[in-house]
Amino acid sequence: MTARILVVDDIPPNVRLLEARLTAEYFDVLAASSGPEALALCQEGVCDIILLDVMMPGMDGFEVCRRLKANPATAHLPVVMVTALDQPADRVRGLEAGADDFLTKPIDEVALVARVRSLARLKVVIDELRSRASTTLAPGLDDDLFAMNGDDGRRGRILLVDDRQSSSERIVQALGAQHEVTVESDPHETALRVAEDACDLLIVSLGLANFDGLRLCSQIRSMERTRSLPILAIAEPGDRARVLRGLDLGVNDFLTRPIDRNELVARTRTQLRHKRYADSLRSKVQQSIELALVDPLTGLNNRRFLENYLALMVDQAQRRRAPLALMIFDIDHFKRVNDTYGHDAGDEVLKGFADRLRRVIRGGDLLCRLGGEEFVIAMPNVSVAAATKIAERTRSAIEEQPFIIDKAGRTVAVTVSIGVAGPGAEGDPESLYRRADRALYRSKSDGRNRVSADAA
Ligand code: GH3
Ligand code: MG
Ligand code: MG
Repeated sequence: MTARILVVDDIPPNVRLLEARLTAEYFDVLAASSGPEALALCQEGVCDIILLDVMMPGMDGFEVCRRLKANPATAHLPVVMVTALDQPADRVRGLEAGADDFLTKPIDEVALVARVRSLARLKVVIDELRSRASTTLAPGLDDDLFAMNGDDGRRGRILLVDDRQSSSERIVQALGAQHEVTVESDPHETALRVAEDACDLLIVSLGLANFDGLRLCSQIRSMERTRSLPILAIAEPGDRARVLRGLDLGVNDFLTRPIDRNELVARTRTQLRHKRYADSLRSKVQQSIELALVDPLTGLNNRRFLENYLALMVDQAQRRRAPLALMIFDIDHFKRVNDTYGHDAGDEVLKGFADRLRRVIRGGDLLCRLGGEEFVIAMPNVSVAAATKIAERTRSAIEEQPFIIDKAGRTVAVTVSIGVAGPGAEGDPESLYRRADRALYRSKSDGRNRVSADAA
């Protein structure tokens, strides 16, 4: 997991220290010695994560953070505040300025690695979704989609695995007011339980009496359903080796006993915010992709989807030396339906027409609305001759069965012209489409309500 980290600090030795540690973890490191310099680098889009010193002359870290989060071009960049003051108030200020995490000086190496890795992991998710979005949607998709939302990181469903009653009581007390915390004292059952009843965050003690907490973390990471569930580990003092092992296994963050209540609350909130951010991003991207590929009126795939998919179908037909047939449907004199019965009635006919075509297609077929009153069906493994027969049956069924256009049951009779073609010698999707379109044109010019097949 490589990410480019921008270290912002006005004192050069501090920068060099962080640089050395992060480079040892195979991160790329960039440095800035002032707020304005950092803002300029972020604006250029050259870094993935920012480690930001709070106390700097001129513009302090809080201000830099606020500006980054207010700018749509940089709002998605995770910011870790680095503060010399071990004061809860400062952490709160940082989080209020929009920071995603914080570290306290002198910086603990393990903590540094934990925080940076956790954010780098989030970045991997964001980047993947970004690229999925940009290959399917128009390039330059709204950056809003990727800005961290205003989630307060509360009301999480937390599963706590801790077999020491005094400890679990203290944790429940700290988190219970803001979240729903369930205590699990039998770690053997936890993995299954989490897989069955998804929670938002798992807090695991690494000092369980009869079970290795790291084993549980590894189980959670290996199961499909819980792969991206955030894990916060609670370590015994001095147990750095196990913490590092945990981070390698995919533990997102850790706390060391004795647990600082404020820190527990803040780290819990950060993990919940990250998880929800990734979840909401995933569903927004999914939704936008669906919107971009599905026609809202009929629920059929649209022209854009056809363009992407037809190329694959043509390619596959060629590799398998199998036939492929394309049919283009164009409703006859559809303008008259609108003019006579109104646009809403026209829409009803289009929906009904889409439903009729749905009945024609089988498993591997592709049915799309090209736009207006034009539809396409691509049928793999079907010859032009066979497709022409299917088209003829469909045409005649459309002619015989009028479409219902309102609740009163009024109907409109329509007919359809169809063009059928196969890939031909060229074997590319454009010529296949062009040939089917030419056949359709012949159906129209020969008097409509008929099927024409491309001669080639
Ligand atoms: P032809 O037989 O030559 O195909 O004649 P036509 O009237 O069907 O063809 P033309 O392309 O001239 O008109 C298509 C009409 O389809 C015009 C447009 O108003 C209508 N139309 C396109 N999209 C929609 C839609 O989503 N809903 C409705 N109700 N009408 C639409
Ligand atoms: Mg038309
Ligand atoms: Mg038409």
